Amino acid sequence: MQLSSGLTLSQINELGKILENEKERIKKCLEAYNERFVSDVATEDLHSILPPMRQNHAFRVEELPEVEAALRKIPDGTYGICEGCGESISYERLLQFPWAKCCVRCQNKKEGCNKKRTI
Ligand SMILES: [Zn+2]
Repeated sequence: MQLSSGLTLSQINELGKILENEKERIKKCLEAYNERFVSDVATEDLHSILPPMRQNHAFRVEELPEVEAALRKIPDGTYGICEGCGESISYERLLQFPWAKCCVRCQNKKEGCNKKRTI
């Protein structure tokens, strides 16, 4: 089966599994966070919990829609294709960022020259 992204079916399945795991992990973290947040915690305790929790929370909330968007692309056959230029995203890059929406070149263009990525 020839896919326009240049990925093989087994590579897509592999990345799909990573994305599913990531989605579950984020959801569990969010649930744990919410439970902790609404539970009756003394103010001092809350202060000791909040700084690290808040960072994780923000990071994961940001990531979840990206993960879900990437998962939706798999059945569409558009997974692994750069949204910027339509070129395929390398498998190495997808392994590291399975929810990546664009290729290295477009990502670098977006982020400027200061933070050049290699994959
Ligand atoms: Zn691109």
